[in-house]
Amino acid sequence: MKKIIPTLIITTMAGLHAQAAVDPNFNYKVDRFADIEVLRYEVPEFDRLTPEQRIMLYYLGQAAQSGRDIIWDQNGKYNLQIRQLLEKIYTNYQGNRDTADFKNFETYLKQVWFGNGIHHHYSTDKFTPAFSKEFFQTEVAKLPVESLPLEAGETPQQMIEKLTEVIFNPAVMAKRVNQDGTQDVVATSAGNFYGEGVTQAEVEQYYNALKDPNDETPISYGLNSKIVKNPDGSLKEEVYCLNGLYAPAISKIIYWLDKAKDVAENDAQKAHITALIDYYITGDLRKFDEYSILWAEDTQSDVDFVNGFIESYGDPLGMTGSWESYVNFRNNASSQRTKTISDNAQWFEDNSPVDKRFKKEKVKGVSAKVINASMLAGDAYPATAIGINLPNSNWIRAQHGSKSVTIENITEAYDMASHGNGFNKEFVIDEATSDHMDKYLYITDMLHTDLHECLGHASGKLLPGVDQDALKENGSALEEARADLFALYYLADPKLLELGILDNPNAYQAEYYKYMLNGLMTQLNRIELGNNIEEAHMRNRQLIAQWALENGKKKGHGGKDVVELVKKGGKTFVKINDYPALRNLFGTLLSEIQRIKSEGDYKAGNDLIQKYAVKIDPKLHKEVIERYSTLDIPPYRGFINPVYTPILNDKGEITDVTISWPENYVEQMLRLSRDFSTLTK
Ligand code: ZN
Repeated sequence: MKKIIPTLIITTMAGLHAQAAVDPNFNYKVDRFADIEVLRYEVPEFDRLTPEQRIMLYYLGQAAQSGRDIIWDQNGKYNLQIRQLLEKIYTNYQGNRDTADFKNFETYLKQVWFGNGIHHHYSTDKFTPAFSKEFFQTEVAKLPVESLPLEAGETPQQMIEKLTEVIFNPAVMAKRVNQDGTQDVVATSAGNFYGEGVTQAEVEQYYNALKDPNDETPISYGLNSKIVKNPDGSLKEEVYCLNGLYAPAISKIIYWLDKAKDVAENDAQKAHITALIDYYITGDLRKFDEYSILWAEDTQSDVDFVNGFIESYGDPLGMTGSWESYVNFRNNASSQRTKTISDNAQWFEDNSPVDKRFKKEKVKGVSAKVINASMLAGDAYPATAIGINLPNSNWIRAQHGSKSVTIENITEAYDMASHGNGFNKEFVIDEATSDHMDKYLYITDMLHTDLHECLGHASGKLLPGVDQDALKENGSALEEARADLFALYYLADPKLLELGILDNPNAYQAEYYKYMLNGLMTQLNRIELGNNIEEAHMRNRQLIAQWALENGKKKGHGGKDVVELVKKGGKTFVKINDYPALRNLFGTLLSEIQRIKSEGDYKAGNDLIQKYAVKIDPKLHKEVIERYSTLDIPPYRGFINPVYTPILNDKGEITDVTISWPENYVEQMLRLSRDFSTLTK
């Protein structure tokens, strides 16, 4: 719920798009290794900001990078030591850099940088090094003893033996986050949220004793602490704060936040930065809640940021937050788009093909903010989300609201980098369709998301007395289908031209083609052969696409099928014969699914799901997977940041900040280790 992860783009939008970028020659691709591709991102509208805002972004960016070592240590207790050692080997290496051992070593180091530690950022499995133990030990032995990152009381030999086990023995620290509920997930996870010998049962008991079931505004227990064992066997929390764990990093973060506070745009922003600093000083989670409320309620500021212990996916018990930072500012052009849509919410509700009885008399669109990231850090770097929805505390969300943001420049970078990866050529039926998608898919895809989020979920109402959980296990798939259909239906509406959001009445066809192609074919690539579709969003997409395929038979222009699957050179392609008729089909299905939801008609909903959304044609499935495997599409991607350089006057004061992209992946990682090693030597 909290993070929108860009897996979809990787497998569904790959290759489809090109909107005018800020710089048509911008070079998105930086590096490629193992299962990873590293990209750069542009920062549109940086120039429209005032010098004060750019200076603020600079300070917040410094605060973001100052926390880098925290996430490394949270991810595993040897990560910082390993990183220092590997970087020393890498920079001191005198031998041939073309040997297999060195190349494999380099790949491993790049993977470790990407994972902020020795485990994969997504699977959390430990990386398997392809270089030899001998290479590792020989190269460590060549380093000057005084440069070794030894722990207190450790000899070089002890360090080498310990880290050889940690890096090369697959059984040692095998998984960062173990979620196998049949095991003690605390004792078997390699992450560093719990000290030696602490068990899951002990942690649960510890927190249960603290929690008051009648507290309606509970703090987020354990969010900023590591649980360790006292010598007598009892547990204690080591709190992340200025006088606690990670103090040297936190003190640097506070230093830069304090500077940012002095150039804040307004009092509301100044107030939440002050509250955040108080929280970092004290580690008091009540103060974190105060900060979160002030932050959630500050919807006016242009520049905004997240900096703290936020998401808890890294803790097997889901309590402790991994340190992360996003620095960003409003993307004016796109925020205007979501505002326009939201302002016209009632018109869309009144004119939808849904039965009047199921419409809202008064609908309020949700206005989503669109932002540009300027700095990603901690757990949000290099792999990052394309949207964030915070704060996480349930009672704060209910009482004070939350901020839901789409990170447009990151989405765009993903999209631009996918261009030319062969996806279109392999899966899109002809060049005309492919060209049209190149022109219009980016904007219509963003617009589809806007309509889905701002209007789709907010539209319609239940009849009196209908249980909101009446659709049971099909509830989420049908709800996603309803929001998607609302968006698809309106993408083709002339209203969008009238509102100035689209400039071509046929633009929608780009999204229609992608949607049908994805729902009927390409999303199957994410499913293992022989399995059914389980995930709600995937069920929703297949439901819509299959339903339209079957119910459009002979209903198109001249008695043709509205949509068909055709063979060309032995391969299957989606062919859309009648776009306006497809729009009508989407309208019909929208009206039926709204009826199902409004009346709580479980049986009709379940019939739809079972008939269209679950089963896969095994032959087509196999074909899609085979065709996908011929494309050069990296499974995971992440980003390096731009470099921000302060401009100083002759008194040494900052007067403005410039942005540039001079670094490659290795250069950026080595610079961060040099300039932001707050917890290492
Ligand atoms: Zn949705």
